[in-house]
Amino acid sequence: MDFTERVRGALLGGALGDALGWPVEFRRLDQIRAGYGPDGLTDLADAGRGGQVTDDTQMTLFTAEGLLRGGRPEDLHAAYRRWFLTQRLPGPVRDADGWLAAQDFLYASRAPGNACLTGVATDYRPAAPFGQDGPVNPHSKGCGTVMRSAPFGLIGLDPDQALHRAAVAAQLTHGHPTGYLAAGAFAALIALIAAGTPLRPAVDAVLTRLDALPRGRETADALRRALRVAAEGPGSAEAVERVGLGWIAEECLAVAVYAALVGEDARAALVLAVNHSGDSDSTGAVCGNLVGALHGLSGLPADWCELVEGREVVLQVADDLVTAFTLGDRTALDGRYPPGPAAA
Ligand SMILES: [Mg+2]
Repeated sequence: MDFTERVRGALLGGALGDALGWPVEFRRLDQIRAGYGPDGLTDLADAGRGGQVTDDTQMTLFTAEGLLRGGRPEDLHAAYRRWFLTQRLPGPVRDADGWLAAQDFLYASRAPGNACLTGVATDYRPAAPFGQDGPVNPHSKGCGTVMRSAPFGLIGLDPDQALHRAAVAAQLTHGHPTGYLAAGAFAALIALIAAGTPLRPAVDAVLTRLDALPRGRETADALRRALRVAAEGPGSAEAVERVGLGWIAEECLAVAVYAALVGEDARAALVLAVNHSGDSDSTGAVCGNLVGALHGLSGLPADWCELVEGREVVLQVADDLVTAFTLGDRTALDGRYPPGPAAA
């Protein structure tokens, strides 16, 4: 499968999982079943919110934008500041800073994470060495790090570089080592899958890296729990909840990996990823990034792709990542992604 197909699948898959999970984000499993039937929410057409996406997709797009506008931690910080404005303003300002910030649909506030908001409200601070508490929200390990980090795995970095750069950028908002290392692990996983590695060996390769990192243990334990539960039997919501609820970074990653391992196709994986009592839109988004990278855009449910909000923008950003980082051609991109000030 061609790399572009995987990049497009990874970003649009994330949006699908986000949109499927958002209507049930704050519902317990019994409430979801009471509302949608014994199998839970199984079709985006039944979700009732017009395919809306949330902070997970918004921030993923701004991660990609930060990479396209310089890629240094300072550039990611500036990109997340532009996302922050989308959560504070009613719509794009005239002369918005870049093409992405001019997209009207991004100006919706749908339960954004507190650490993400407070983290980017502060000035840029360089990351701490891995294993130490980061400088911003040092005790936070919410899943807001993981759910935005797929683009680090989609720009042709090797898994170690993807891990490093995602974990550094995660420290812009979350300082708990598990919070930022889980994001790094996720980016490494995406990098491996996007390069053609099947999911299970990719998880094993990431576990090897986590085992070698100071404070990598919590994330490694969560991933091993996902593998163990996946080996126990067919997928179910009860099994998902034995893996975790996804509010915290390592559980979000583990639930997404579990669903991607057990679901027989992208649709089944996404349904598993959102039907539980936890953070359904984030586990859905992260699972969607994984299955999209695995199966490509054509492996995603076509009827859901038609429904999801922002589809054209998400696919444009995917193509722009490929153009800039795989084809190495920026000539058509500077209009949409003016380089950061110090990089200009
Ligand atoms: Mg969300």
